[in-house]
Amino acid sequence: MYLGDLRSCSLESLDFITNRQKRILQKFGFESVYDLITYFPFRYEDRKEIASIEKSLLWQKPVTTIVRVIEHDHIYFQNKRHPKIIIQDDTMRAALVGFHRPYLSKNLRIGEKYWIYAQFTMKYNEIQTSSFEFEPYQENVQPKNFGRIFPIYRLPGELSLKEFHTILKKLLDSYLPQMEDEIPVYAVTGHKLLTKEEAYREIHFPTDQKLLYRARLRIAYEEIFGIQIAIQLKRRAVSSYTKPARYQKREKTDALIGELPFALTNDQKKAMEEIFHDLCSPHPMHRLLQGDVGAGKTVVAFFAMLLAAENHHQAALLAPTESLAFQHYENLVRMVKDRVDVALLTSSTTLAERKNILARLKSGDIALIVGTHALLQPDVVFSDLTTVVFDEQHKFGVEQRIALAKKGNHPDMLVMTATPIPRTIALTLYGDLDISIIRQKPSDRLPVRTHWIRPSEYHQMREFIRKQLEQGRQAFFVYPVIEASEKLELKSLEHYYHQIREWFKPFSAVLLHGKMSTEDKMVSLESFRSGRAPILVSTLVIEVGIDVPNATVMVIESAERFGLSQLHQLRGRVGRGRHQSFCFLVTEEDITPEGKERMEIMCRTEDGFEIAEADFKQRGPGEILGVRQSGLPELKVANLYDHRFLAMCTEDARRIISYDPQLTLPKHQGIVQGILRFLPLDYLRSG
Ligand code: ADP
Ligand code: MG
Repeated sequence: MYLGDLRSCSLESLDFITNRQKRILQKFGFESVYDLITYFPFRYEDRKEIASIEKSLLWQKPVTTIVRVIEHDHIYFQNKRHPKIIIQDDTMRAALVGFHRPYLSKNLRIGEKYWIYAQFTMKYNEIQTSSFEFEPYQENVQPKNFGRIFPIYRLPGELSLKEFHTILKKLLDSYLPQMEDEIPVYAVTGHKLLTKEEAYREIHFPTDQKLLYRARLRIAYEEIFGIQIAIQLKRRAVSSYTKPARYQKREKTDALIGELPFALTNDQKKAMEEIFHDLCSPHPMHRLLQGDVGAGKTVVAFFAMLLAAENHHQAALLAPTESLAFQHYENLVRMVKDRVDVALLTSSTTLAERKNILARLKSGDIALIVGTHALLQPDVVFSDLTTVVFDEQHKFGVEQRIALAKKGNHPDMLVMTATPIPRTIALTLYGDLDISIIRQKPSDRLPVRTHWIRPSEYHQMREFIRKQLEQGRQAFFVYPVIEASEKLELKSLEHYYHQIREWFKPFSAVLLHGKMSTEDKMVSLESFRSGRAPILVSTLVIEVGIDVPNATVMVIESAERFGLSQLHQLRGRVGRGRHQSFCFLVTEEDITPEGKERMEIMCRTEDGFEIAEADFKQRGPGEILGVRQSGLPELKVANLYDHRFLAMCTEDARRIISYDPQLTLPKHQGIVQGILRFLPLDYLRSG
């Protein structure tokens, strides 16, 4: 059995988990035994070293110590009596204060010895602690929760750490011994990795720091090795498929690009040539177009699509939101005028219109189509789809990429992302894709001036924005409402919206949020885009893509509630035209240190790479790059900044696939059964 098999092993069948525990665990998102075994501690307490009360005071850190109970006392607090246990170790006396723990004096008996884990401080003229853990001390008996490294998990409030430890221990004992290793034995021994069983035991309940380190190393290896095997297979599949020659002509496309009201940047030109080269190559294109917000990725994508049209094929562009799809559609139509048939398909396309579009798509009358997920429906059929483009690729899963690709015959694929990914990381996570980067922004851009606004400066900011409006500029106000959330939050958004209208009279403002009907959204967006309403109040829905060059002000309320990448994306909505733009990050006076760090980074730099790197460090790359959605194994342990380690895993996978490309050797069956079986094989095996 492989670890991955435990995904189909539900919690229901386990008799050592109570129904109450099952309910709590399921509510927290654990569905299978796999989910539990791969849920790692977020930190550990080293309770191995035995220290003293004195050391705890000195280091200002919690310690494990062995104490004897001397005396039972009590204190009064809020009219209640609480036990106070006087203890002593080799160094000094101290008090354990048990707020709301009336039974403490029964459990800590005078004269007996106990293990204690606590941080002691000097308070009210005595050395004490009110947060501590204990266990009876017995000569030559290994304690349960002391004398070892103690794992701490993030858990739902209703479930105690102790309960979780018990459950996990049972799971590890019953499943780990049957686990087969998916990594070939020679790699495990060659790199001196821990075995599967050792690694999973040690990461949960480490024997010592060194073994914990090695457990993490082994699991990190699994993660990266798994991704690399998948990627190398994909690469092989792509390069062994030969597509029919599809492209000869580009004059019309070049002419359309030449009519643009601006000159392309060198990076845009280079990306276009790379794409053209891929399109003409005998193998399908799999290219990632990376470029910061506002770098001008869209025209590059249009170039690829127009080439398909010029050579009598079809191209589709998939956008994550309706407003973005609409904007792309408009821009594309504006660019081709009436020389190419372009269609827009979203979930709000009327039935009659949809029918018409589908018919003309099937017959090949429509060359280019822009849309949302609606494009993925099975009844959307093309006559000759050769180019597919995904905007904001991290919003889409592998399944969706496959669904669209299947509508063509090994189409050329371009995926776009505004998250600047450091090169080594990109090679690790997107090694199946060739990469084009637009680094240079259009040269007419001025850097955005970013200010962190505390309540005392709010008024001044308002005055300033009014002046911008008077000069004919436009402003975004972003209010943090979680899209899926309650009426209450929407109420406060509407309240905010009314306030903005009040403040900036006579300038009109429109509202945009995810709960509005598509039609209302379009109306709002159109009024803002056309400038009729110079103010747009919205939620995060504008994060992706909206392009209004005349907008020069971005106000982000409660900015500390957003992640760095989101803030960067939001700021990217301004600074797109020739006027100086401003971004105001509004927070309370007091915010968390991490929040403060985010504000400072935003004020200091506009460099997407630097911001992404800081964001990776705060939140972990998995969450940002949407690794969860990519279908690849999640990265829970691997450090994507450890270049040598990444190179080692990559090289191992490359060697294996090159001398056993079909993975038929017995020693590689672990890879086939234990890794590949849980990946979207359809995708990996197709060119
Ligand atoms: P993103 O990379 O964020 O998708 P867009 O493609 O939406 O960026 O481009 C942002 C804006 O810059 C658009 O208004 C676009 O027309 C404009 N633009 C693109 N390329 C250039 C260029 N070379 N010079 C000037 N403006 C450009
Ligand atoms: Mg874009």
